Amino acid sequence: MSVGVVGAGISGLHLALRLQQAGVPVTLYAERSAEEIADGRPQNLVVRFGHTRERERALDVEHWTAPEHSMFGAHVFAPGEPPLRFFGALSEPGSAVDFRIYLPRLMADFEERGGAVDPVVADVESVVELAERHDLVVVASGRRSITDLFPRDASRSPFGEPQRILTAGLYHGIAPMETTALHFNLCPGVGEVFSIRMLTFGGPVHGMNIEAIPGGPLEALVHMDYQADPAGFERAVLTLLAEHAPALRERIDEREFGPARPVDLLQGGITPTVRAGWTVLPNGKYCMAVGDAWITNDPVAGQGANLGSHSAFTLADEIIAGPPYDEAFCRRAEQRRWEYARPVTEWSNAFLLPPPPHALEVLGRAGADQRIADAFIDNFNDPPAMWRVLGSPEGAAAWLATFGQPASSVGAPG
Ligand SMILES: Cc1cc2nc3c(=O)[nH]c(=O)nc-3n(C[C@H](O)[C@H](O)[C@H](O)COP(=O)(O)OP(=O)(O)OC[C@H]3O[C@@H](n4cnc5c(N)ncnc54)[C@H](O)[C@@H]3O)c2cc1C
Repeated sequence: MSVGVVGAGISGLHLALRLQQAGVPVTLYAERSAEEIADGRPQNLVVRFGHTRERERALDVEHWTAPEHSMFGAHVFAPGEPPLRFFGALSEPGSAVDFRIYLPRLMADFEERGGAVDPVVADVESVVELAERHDLVVVASGRRSITDLFPRDASRSPFGEPQRILTAGLYHGIAPMETTALHFNLCPGVGEVFSIRMLTFGGPVHGMNIEAIPGGPLEALVHMDYQADPAGFERAVLTLLAEHAPALRERIDEREFGPARPVDLLQGGITPTVRAGWTVLPNGKYCMAVGDAWITNDPVAGQGANLGSHSAFTLADEIIAGPPYDEAFCRRAEQRRWEYARPVTEWSNAFLLPPPPHALEVLGRAGADQRIADAFIDNFNDPPAMWRVLGSPEGAAAWLATFGQPASSVGAPG
């Protein structure tokens, strides 16, 4: 029995490492070498939550535990009368490591344990060919490539275009907080601004992701070319932060501020899309999709990589249970994975729309009661629980009722 995995992002690597651990022969087909990944632009700014870190421990690939790039909770800010401001703690810290460091390290782990990585830029024909060589091929090639194999599922994809236009980057000049935590700034009608201390080349800096509602003021950044006018770009970021994320602007020393390196920026938009999780190839073989190749969510809820890892593990369990990898297998594996992916996807999509009254009620109560603040932020590590709360007015009311009468607020760590 052998499995081919196309794509060496977190989804492909967690799947390949898990299969390898179970003694299943597996080959990774990767268009980019570890060196090419390390030398490229960032493709994301990922926070890995506690459950993903648990899987990393199970895979024995937990290489990054230093507190300065761990994430112990999140500060939430929103304007208003009065403004909303609270800190919620995570019961298990998250971790923020530049994927240009993370992925090459995991690729090395896989190879050091005897795994084969073949340098291949797969297209549809080569996937068919690979399917002849393996009992099962899994496509983990991300949102940009060979996704034609897996048609968009309109019933699970409410948007036909990006709902946010992103300007993400790694920056010097943002002061660390006493407790490393996500800075999560809601800007109603305008978008969101996130910032987290991350490990990158040369040590920790801050990752900042500015999510602009199309047509709003934050979108201007995506049309600016940093290399053509570095000072103009930096001035524009600072001006927009002063207006829309003042608490983050206060932590910035403008003399130090700027991208850690000129390549450390990423600009563009993502259309949230759920595709079919499997397909029958022209040669009659079955092929599955995992990670962004299957479901691409906007990063507003910080779940894509965490979901990719989760569904890689669920798929690995099904594969390890043994062939045949036929239609029944594909249907069963997709169904099992969708049970967890559905709340992640629906929650991520809901975050892109104006918040309904019950979500505002949850945020307001979190601002007034430290127990609710902690439980709300902790649910970023448990998307099904988060969606049980935010998915309906009844869910929110039932959850809030478990805390009894509002208690007084507790101070937020720095
Ligand atoms: C700004 C930003 C911030 C984000 N923040 C978070 C966050 O905080 N938390 C979170 O969980 N997620 C976050 N995400 C989402 C996350 O980055 C993705 O969901 C995740 O990285 C997807 O992983 P993947 O392995 O499925 O795909 P990818 O990371 O896209 O990896 C696919 C791999 O396959 C390779 N490949 C592609 N085509 C081929 C081919 N034809 N043949 C061979 N190889 C191929 C690629 O080179 C790549 O290495 C963020 C995304 C962005 C853009």
